[in-house]
Amino acid sequence: MTDLPTLRESLEQHGLMAKKAFGQHFLLDLNVTRKIVRLGGPYDGDTVIEVGPGPGGLTRAVLETEASRLIAIEKDARFIDLLEELKIPYGERFEVIEADALKVDESALLADRNLPPRAHIVSNLPYNVGTPLLIKWLTGPWRPLSMTLMFQLEVALRVVAPVGDDDYGRLSVIAQVLCDCEKIMDLPARAFTPPPKVDSAVVRLTPKAERPDDALVKNLEKLTAAAFGQRRKMLRASLKSLGGEALLVRAGIEPTLRAEQVAPGDFVRMAGLL
Ligand code: SAM
Repeated sequence: MTDLPTLRESLEQHGLMAKKAFGQHFLLDLNVTRKIVRLGGPYDGDTVIEVGPGPGGLTRAVLETEASRLIAIEKDARFIDLLEELKIPYGERFEVIEADALKVDESALLADRNLPPRAHIVSNLPYNVGTPLLIKWLTGPWRPLSMTLMFQLEVALRVVAPVGDDDYGRLSVIAQVLCDCEKIMDLPARAFTPPPKVDSAVVRLTPKAERPDDALVKNLEKLTAAAFGQRRKMLRASLKSLGGEALLVRAGIEPTLRAEQVAPGDFVRMAGLL
């Protein structure tokens, strides 16, 4: 949209600066945000929910796609007027809500607007709320169609780490059991304004068609908490309170293994036996 000011101009017009308390590091290059959205898509005909739009770089890129609707959730009230300006070119397709994404009920948000019950999530997440939001979208009652999420590199590596890798842990098991996970882009700290202390990466997570039932997911959370809570110990010791050696033998898993040597599918088998 050529008639919109640049993101920098927009920030200047509204007298806005990044605030540390809100974890604000902005992407002001539309070529970068368009690439993230292209790799995270397609969104044709679907609703997209964006968390933390800030100055709106990803927002604009989503609005340039064939997504039928974009609902942006921003906690920092200072950005609402700036974002509302996107309604001039995009009209009813775009809406911004001032809210804390951790407290939003996505099912109600969509139902209240008579929209289909599932939507894609796109977000350059504030670092301090990135993992809790991911856990909410992975294990909560509402299931997104897909999630395209920016994390600090260390968290992105944990999400996609294969069994045996140093980064392999609880988040890897839970994310990979529930979703197909792929790191689709690396971004150096200098890509952001102001630059954060660490590099970032974008991960795309697509929920699997068959989702294990809630009880199994709860057991998986318990098992991985115990196993990776003491990751240097053998499983027969770290899982003692959950059945220890007997559980491992029933699941066909060598009791002397450590958590990082057990694949997501093996954790699922154990969770099914709890
Ligand atoms: N998406 C923008 C971009 O890429 O330039 C901004 C990214 S900035 C890292 C994170 C944004 O999330 C900020 O706009 C911040 O105000 C917002 N935010 C922080 N905590 C939030 C929360 N709990 N719910 C919704 N938005 C939040």
